[in-house]
Amino acid sequence: MRKLTGRSGTSPLQDSFPVSTTTAPRTVHDPVVAAVLTWWDDYGRPLPWRASRDVYAIWVSEVMSAQTSVARAAAAWTRWMARWPTVRALAAASLADVLGEWQGLGYPRRARDLHRSARIVAERGWPDPLTELPGVGDYVATAIRCFAREEPVLPLDVNTRRVLARRFPEGVDTAGDPWRAGQALMELGQRICTTRPLCVLCPVADGCPVAASGDDPAPRARRQARYEGSLRQRRGRLLARVLAEGEVTLGDADRRAATQLVAEGLLGVHEGCLRIGE
Ligand code: SF4
Repeated sequence: MRKLTGRSGTSPLQDSFPVSTTTAPRTVHDPVVAAVLTWWDDYGRPLPWRASRDVYAIWVSEVMSAQTSVARAAAAWTRWMARWPTVRALAAASLADVLGEWQGLGYPRRARDLHRSARIVAERGWPDPLTELPGVGDYVATAIRCFAREEPVLPLDVNTRRVLARRFPEGVDTAGDPWRAGQALMELGQRICTTRPLCVLCPVADGCPVAASGDDPAPRARRQARYEGSLRQRRGRLLARVLAEGEVTLGDADRRAATQLVAEGLLGVHEGCLRIGE
């Protein structure tokens, strides 16, 4: 794997935390983006990872907040970074500890992938592209480039996509200040330009075709599958049981949940018992 190299002759791929950086506002040429930035400077939430440009720290924040509320992810991220402040520290942890720390965030495959990837990075260094790591897709790789390295790219999650579809149908230019623009557009989509947009609070309502016409080109949000009684809930219960008890006999386990968890490497089978896999 080719190593990722940094700008200005220094590697941004630090193995330490925290790496605090204050981003000085820069000029963006698009006046609509500039208005979003002004709003964000006044109302943006002080999320803990925004002070960091550490690749590992940003990676963890993106994986956590992908399918978990930002408030819950922020609290979990702070605990996580205190416990495993570097990618090497995470690589040295056991999968049981990692899954235990992840409890309450949901979708534990994310934790397993973080752990597997940390071990790869600890052994061989950061790959280029980052998508070679388990669980790192285009979105996370782009978010790391934008939020850790301040490269002129815009990560397109569901929130950013919605804002672009509604307010920037011709495209958006964030090159002047990509880090702030990425943060601001994402937060606008999380808090104002939501599925049911709060146009009366929007800093860029003037000139917005959706506010004017009511025709919404943004893709409709998919309804969340019911959690109560779902296989996802059963998997979560079984995993929590194994974490609490150390092992659960196969005959005493939810078979379908166990089959999936074993197939995904979250659990292993040892002498007729389910244990956390490694
Ligand atoms: S005016 Fe409404 S639809 Fe347009 S960008 Fe703002 S919140 Fe979204």
